[in-house]
Amino acid sequence: MTDVNECTVKTVDFFARPADEQQDFLRQTWCNECMEMDLGMTSPVEYHDKDKVWIEGECVKCSAKVVTEIVEEDE
Ligand SMILES: [Zn+2]
Repeated sequence: MTDVNECTVKTVDFFARPADEQQDFLRQTWCNECMEMDLGMTSPVEYHDKDKVWIEGECVKCSAKVVTEIVEEDE
């Protein structure tokens, strides 16, 4: 990709990830409404921008938006 600029955010198919990774990401959450971790999320959507990858979904318990940032170092 050569046309990526600072404002570019791409949606990626979360379900393209291996099943065990999906399970981990869906389980390892933090909900700002419940103030609890690892409640889990539903309806995950994965986003990429220039130097960040994250997954947005809904808290299993209260349906608030939860965001999990994925740290992937590739240098
Ligand atoms: Zn919640």
